[in-house]
Amino acid sequence: MQLNLQIKFEFLPLLFCFYKQKKARGSPKPKTMHYQGVLKKMQTEFSDTVQYYLQTESDFLNFNQLLDRSIEIQFEKYECLNCHKQKKIFRQGHCYDCFYDQPQTGDWILKPELSKAHLGIEDRDLDYEKSVQLQPHIVYLALSSEIKVGVTRKTQVPTRWIDQGASKALAILEVPNRYLAGIAEIALKEHVTDKTSWQKMLKNEVSSADLLEKKQDLKQYLPDEVLPYYLDSNADVWELNYPVLHYPLKVKSLNLVTAQQYEGVLKGIKGQYLLFEDGTVFNIRNNEGIVVRWTL
Ligand SMILES: [Zn+2]
Repeated sequence: MQLNLQIKFEFLPLLFCFYKQKKARGSPKPKTMHYQGVLKKMQTEFSDTVQYYLQTESDFLNFNQLLDRSIEIQFEKYECLNCHKQKKIFRQGHCYDCFYDQPQTGDWILKPELSKAHLGIEDRDLDYEKSVQLQPHIVYLALSSEIKVGVTRKTQVPTRWIDQGASKALAILEVPNRYLAGIAEIALKEHVTDKTSWQKMLKNEVSSADLLEKKQDLKQYLPDEVLPYYLDSNADVWELNYPVLHYPLKVKSLNLVTAQQYEGVLKGIKGQYLLFEDGTVFNIRNNEGIVVRWTL
């Protein structure tokens, strides 16, 4: 509760901005506001409906409040999240040089089974790798379109599931490091996908499969090394609800670098995607490191 209050107070100036804007909507020409900033994934708050916040240079915008409003997005330039230089983004918000140099973009991020900090072996920066890899990790099942298996740090629950647009999620294992989570995931990938169909997720075509049943069924395939970490309690199926007024029937992904500019009416937010009335979807996370100007 305390956290909620803290967050709410932090957003008061912003809420005020929107109040002023809302008042202005009654006039024939709504007052527009501009914000600029380098894109980083939206921050989220788990609630009855997930709350989404986007950091700009000057404000912290609650995007839930922008539903049903026209939004204009303008590409300005690149800005690498690591070196902050105006260099083309290669992957994960990083320029080519930073992507192949920085510890936070090591191969073990996307392939947890490659983690070696538990053996004291360095990939790019052992201190960093120890700090991230040697902490409790969760192996989970999530339902975003079909049932998928995934790995996340325990501190990223339920953030990770929200970022994927999962409707439901269930932890299978809680292991003490990233390596063990990785080998469990590799074993389970033989029997369940590790991919999300983003189109189905955005159209809300979600399978009715039973996570609890699947969890029990998959137990037999877990490596012996991780069996002591199997979570016997099945009480915690998470359900996640997103701020979506209207799901698209067809989706078309916006490439802002090519298009340079886009304008549309926001109809929903799911995962890290903004969903617009015309079926255009914009993946904030895939566009990290791009400086955009928002006209709201
Ligand atoms: Zn860089």
